[in-house]
Amino acid sequence: MSDDFMTPEARRENATALATALGLSVSDASEALDLKVAITVEKNNETARRIGDETYELLRRTVRKVAQDSCLGNVAAELIIGSARPKTNARRVFLRVLPDCATISLERHGTEACASTPPILALLISCFASAVTLSRALNRALPFAPPNPFTLDFRQVGIDWNAVSEPIDLEHTYVAGAGAIGNGFLWAARHLNFQGSLGIADDDTVGSGNLNRQIWFENEDIGKPKADRIVERAQRYFPKLKLVPNRCRLQDLPEKSSGPWLRRLIVSVDSRRARRELQNELPGEVFDSSTTDIREIVVHYNRQPTELACLSCIYEADEEEMTREKHIAQHLGVSIEDVRTERISESAAERIVLMHSELDPETLVGIAYDTLFKSLCAEGQLQTPEGRRIVAPFAFVSVLAGTLLALEVVRRLSAGEHSRDFNYWRLSPWHPIDKRRQIIRQRQSSCAFCADSILKNVNVNLWG
Ligand SMILES: [Zn+2]
Repeated sequence: MSDDFMTPEARRENATALATALGLSVSDASEALDLKVAITVEKNNETARRIGDETYELLRRTVRKVAQDSCLGNVAAELIIGSARPKTNARRVFLRVLPDCATISLERHGTEACASTPPILALLISCFASAVTLSRALNRALPFAPPNPFTLDFRQVGIDWNAVSEPIDLEHTYVAGAGAIGNGFLWAARHLNFQGSLGIADDDTVGSGNLNRQIWFENEDIGKPKADRIVERAQRYFPKLKLVPNRCRLQDLPEKSSGPWLRRLIVSVDSRRARRELQNELPGEVFDSSTTDIREIVVHYNRQPTELACLSCIYEADEEEMTREKHIAQHLGVSIEDVRTERISESAAERIVLMHSELDPETLVGIAYDTLFKSLCAEGQLQTPEGRRIVAPFAFVSVLAGTLLALEVVRRLSAGEHSRDFNYWRLSPWHPIDKRRQIIRQRQSSCAFCADSILKNVNVNLWG
């Protein structure tokens, strides 16, 4: 991949994310991200090399330039991994990897060689190292500034790290959505030993504004089906797992039946509504993670039948969602019902161009309302709570969400001594992992799925 593969649209997505987080204008945020970061890696150390490579892939999608083990001028921050010596005079971030934890700090606390870690853990460390390095490079107060030192205690994840390389038979599992988190999931899963088959359902094509966070995609994928492209790129990393692309939404798969066809579902679609609707497909087991702009990640798991929360409980319709849908409908000249279908239909496209004559109806059909709205709306509208919902996160946030999703599959399906006593986990990409935030969420009495007695009976018949 060329060094500068990021399209202007992808850079704008990053600028919008930062602008929203800091209350800046998009042009100021774009200027703030126009910076260079250096990564300097301890020699002859596998863990250090891996973290260097992963962090490079994450940060090059976020800032203008990332240099790995090379000298260059005007560097805003340098990440120094393990025992390596700094190569620049830039602001420094030191990463130590010890057997039980990683520390990321602005001063050097030790010069030992990096301890050996499983590759999936190296990726997890890289996501947090990217956050701290970016924060240091920006040199401005983020509202969620990472602590110094930042200590990532591996035990807080609740994963038995000795068991992560064991084979896990996924049998016939499906992934709904090949967007940012679906990409992050497969990016992380390439470090695991999954077997069986994985159907990947997505009806969308790769957009030029996706390259900053949908980590498998490159310039030549733009305009092509996401499901096909991700399988094409990722399959060679999965010798024992068959990836099956489906150019449709999960609910439109031809193999769908009234029987127990959807035993296991990995959810990585991009809206609360789409997540809720997937619970109505009656999956036996759900692995889910989502992001709220660049601030937060949610991880959820359920196995039916259960008295605990389902997807529809977790992502229940709320005031912000309704305000946002109303807003989009008014701005585009369509009905709220149109917006709720998520994708622009032919007839909606004709109505949109009546209000926005600069647009071509043919190019609108099939794209997401959120995407179009984001490209049209004034900057101030994205700073509102409901506007923030549609701001896309940075690559390291989406990949962190995908990594946690992959680890959730390990946690629930492999035999290790993992902690499994929770179904809901909210965490910040800017703060160390704290196990106390892994909690049990009870079901909502008003849930559109759980509270429906017919659906409940069907569910018990399928999975009881
Ligand atoms: Zn529910």
